[in-house]
Amino acid sequence: MAKPAILAVDDDPAVLQAITRDLRRQYGSEYQVLRAPSGTDALRVLVELELRERPVALIASDQRMPGMTGVDFLSAARSHAPEAKLVLVTAYSDIEVAITAINDLGLDYYLTKPWEPPAERLYPVLDDLLSDWRRAHVDELGGVRVVGHRWSERSDEIKTFLARNHVPYRWLDVERDAEALRISDLADAAATDLPLVLVPDGDTLRGPSLIDLADALGLRTSAEQPLYDLCIVGGGPAGLAAAVYGASEGLQTVVVERQAPGGQAGQSSKIENYLGFPTGVSGFHLAQRALEQAQRFGAELVLARDVEHFEERGPVRAVCLGGGGEIEARSLLVATGVSYRRLDAPGLAELTGRGVYYGASASDARTYRDQDVYIVGAANSAGQAALDLARFARRVVLLVRSNSLEKSMSRYLVERIEKAPNIDVRLESEVVAGHGDGHLQTLTIADRAAGTEEEVAAEWLFVFIGASPRTDWLGDDVARDEKGFVVTGNDVLTSAAAPRWPLARSPFVLETSVPGVFAAGDVRLDSMKRVASAVGEGAMAVYLVHRYLATI
Ligand SMILES: Cc1cc2nc3c(=O)[nH]c(=O)nc-3n(C[C@H](O)[C@H](O)[C@H](O)COP(=O)(O)OP(=O)(O)OC[C@H]3O[C@@H](n4cnc5c(N)ncnc54)[C@H](O)[C@@H]3O)c2cc1C
Repeated sequence: MAKPAILAVDDDPAVLQAITRDLRRQYGSEYQVLRAPSGTDALRVLVELELRERPVALIASDQRMPGMTGVDFLSAARSHAPEAKLVLVTAYSDIEVAITAINDLGLDYYLTKPWEPPAERLYPVLDDLLSDWRRAHVDELGGVRVVGHRWSERSDEIKTFLARNHVPYRWLDVERDAEALRISDLADAAATDLPLVLVPDGDTLRGPSLIDLADALGLRTSAEQPLYDLCIVGGGPAGLAAAVYGASEGLQTVVVERQAPGGQAGQSSKIENYLGFPTGVSGFHLAQRALEQAQRFGAELVLARDVEHFEERGPVRAVCLGGGGEIEARSLLVATGVSYRRLDAPGLAELTGRGVYYGASASDARTYRDQDVYIVGAANSAGQAALDLARFARRVVLLVRSNSLEKSMSRYLVERIEKAPNIDVRLESEVVAGHGDGHLQTLTIADRAAGTEEEVAAEWLFVFIGASPRTDWLGDDVARDEKGFVVTGNDVLTSAAAPRWPLARSPFVLETSVPGVFAAGDVRLDSMKRVASAVGEGAMAVYLVHRYLATI
């Protein structure tokens, strides 16, 4: 496969030469670095690449160019290279322009000149952007191959698991790819064997469970130690923050995660309100960095395992894992967050994973190129998904139950949605049924204001309708409210749901009704439901764990 392209644009020959040199030095082995002296020339290069079906990974353009400014060029470049990461190279005085472009154009980053030394001021930023790009193109670049049916829930589950665990793979559809048919014939695969997963230098897995798949990929699926100081259930921002602080402060720490590190945040295409990232950070990157950090400090991560049961064994807090096995620790942190609520309309349950999806990951966005997609929801997650999918889909229809988006979505997202030419917002509208033979084909949408119902052709529906915690596994002793959110701190003493607090001291702020069991992040009653607050609570929980451990 031809190398993906990186394009540098600047009207100053010396600057253009310098940036091209720096880019080639760092990325020349994996990317073809091209250059153009003006926006007009650069658009010609992009058209040429488009004709040759060559992917463009990144475009870095100067802002101040005669004829066409950098922002105008990047805006035009979007239609030729919608997937490319866009970087504006500005003089200090252009920063206002760059900030506006972040909001209006979806600019990925702005660099100020000069970028010397590149190892500090250029490469770290571009490394992140390019690794994001590569992740979104895993199916073209990877070694693992997944062969299956497009409308199969199992195929979807496996692809999601691989993508969210940062494993590059290539997807081969048995109904569309000759290569897929060849592989399935060679493997003599029956319909029930699909999806097949071919791991380089490994066996061909037939319809593997996530644990089998994780094992084949060399991911850890069971705990190493007989007893830990801290067991964290859930590897979202709260759990990973606790892992970083726990392990770095000398606690033997293990994290159990049923799917992939990052939690809900890992599904966010761009988190724009997390401190220290003025141009936003992709959830994928935040998760990847947090995971590396936790592992560097020595935290253990057990993946593809669902915690199904909790037991108090004297001073030991134990959790039992689905599929067998358990982990014992002297303290436990519940950081299991929340999961999307299911949309309760006839036909949708059977079509889940076959056109009906809960949440959407940024890496899937290209799958919907030139198609219509429907999104249900009115919170920021639905807004982010709408903008993300609109870059590829022909049309995005956002179905909102209330009569205004502003009530539930941040202003900056509402403004961008209003400006997007291919996003239709339908207020006071609800999906009342889904239909399809093997996969979603039509939706019935009720217009509550008009009192009418309409059936529309639809193959893709993404649902973002609020979330609820799944905490049944905690049993009766760990108090929750009627929705399942875990009660902590002083609320334990007043909660009608809590059993009698057994100690003379009061519960610590994040402690649950069982001493030594803590809760942090979205799963906790009255939590703020943001990345920053989850991270803060995860870190704080470790401080409280130390105080608890000092008492036993
Ligand atoms: C699409 C999207 C976009 C968002 N954008 C933003 C944003 O821009 N800014 C912002 O501040 N917030 C945003 N949020 C909210 C933010 O992501 C959450 O508040 C945050 O992730 C909560 O972190 P957490 O660790 O408490 O829980 P989660 O992120 O929900 O993580 C919990 C983890 O626990 C695992 N788990 C659950 N049960 C079990 C079990 N029984 N056994 C093992 N593992 C289990 C789950 O698989 C999951 O990985 C967004 C959310 C979504 C969905």
